[in-house]
Amino acid sequence: MKKKVIILTGAGISAESGISTFRDSDGLWEQYRVEDVATHEAYVRNPALVLNFYNERRHQLYEVEPNEGHRQLVRLEKYYDVHIITQNIDNLHERAGSTNVLHLHGELGKARSERDDNLIIEIGDRDIKLGDKAPDGAQLRPHIVWFGEAVPNIEPASHLCEKADYFIVIGTSMNVYPAAGLIHYVPRGVPCYLVDPKAVPISRPIKIVQEKAGTGVKKVVDELIALASK
Ligand code: NAD
Repeated sequence: MKKKVIILTGAGISAESGISTFRDSDGLWEQYRVEDVATHEAYVRNPALVLNFYNERRHQLYEVEPNEGHRQLVRLEKYYDVHIITQNIDNLHERAGSTNVLHLHGELGKARSERDDNLIIEIGDRDIKLGDKAPDGAQLRPHIVWFGEAVPNIEPASHLCEKADYFIVIGTSMNVYPAAGLIHYVPRGVPCYLVDPKAVPISRPIKIVQEKAGTGVKKVVDELIALASK
């Protein structure tokens, strides 16, 4: 049976594709206040503004391509049972060819009913406008986990981490919980790797590749492939 590689990714893996990160100084959130666009309260206060913010993010997604960081992870699938847990709402892992991608914070390409969280539809690159209805007649909202909302996929994600034989963290400041807490589910002694150009504080032994994803991911992938081929 193939060993399991569990990978946690954040905004940094998509940075070289041209999607702004969250907290870097040129990040998206320098231009917007989280409270104005990424909370349920903001949506209730000004739904058109919030819908427009995500419509813009969705347009941008179809102008960018997966980068070398996303593509390198696909190589691992020949040797390992690979599961990516991403905080990203983009679809660049899927477009690079990764098979198992679990989105913790939702997906831009999906919308759901305001009334029923389980009524989710694919919208691709289409806008969501006020008046657009889900099949149950309720207004459609972005299928995004806003700050302060529950993260339904944290449970399957934690189960994946418990089963990891190798764990890789790429491009996340480990600031957003509960995602940042997932590393605590990885059993002691499991080799862990971190790819990030900044020094991200992580409270367990971890092999650090202090580089951008575009070059750093290949180093980790090469090492794991060499181990699998021994
Ligand atoms: P973050 O902005 O807090 O941290 C980004 C991390 O990526 C930093 O540690 C930074 O040093 C690193 N980084 C920057 N450039 C990099 C590169 N080229 N290669 C590798 N690493 C690089 O992002 P986060 O930890 O993911 O948390 C942000 C939240 O914002 C998440 O909830 C996420 O859902 C959301 N978000 C998503 C996207 C997206 O879908 N692409 C973009 C921005 C924000």
